[in-house]
Amino acid sequence: MLSGGCLCGAVRYRITAEPLMTRTCWCRVCQYIGAGSATVNSLFTADALHIDGVLADYVCVADSGNHLHRRFCAQCGTHVYAHAEERPQVVIQEWVGRRLYTRLPFDAVAADAAATADLTRSVAARR
Ligand SMILES: [Zn+2]
Ligand SMILES: [Zn+2]
Repeated sequence: MLSGGCLCGAVRYRITAEPLMTRTCWCRVCQYIGAGSATVNSLFTADALHIDGVLADYVCVADSGNHLHRRFCAQCGTHVYAHAEERPQVVIQEWVGRRLYTRLPFDAVAADAAATADLTRSVAARR
């Protein structure tokens, strides 16, 4: 089981299933969310996600044409998950900004990013 929450602690989540897949997305919407970079995100069945707390909802149309609901803490703005109206059975957990600090067991991209960060630090230390 995975669990986590937002910055202020008003929202907590639990995920009680393994991810269907984990991917890096470079679409334009994800570049905005990731401050210019891609997002690393995992897809879960919607019934595996359990939320405690109040989420706000921002709806946009993705490059795919899907209507994406981005759910975030109404108090601190931390993005918690997203889902598309066209695929209600699946939720998307986006690990925005967490990939260098949390090595999730299924997140190969996170491990690569952390390795790159380690290399960058070691190069900087030699200067
Ligand atoms: Zn919060
Ligand atoms: Zn995307």
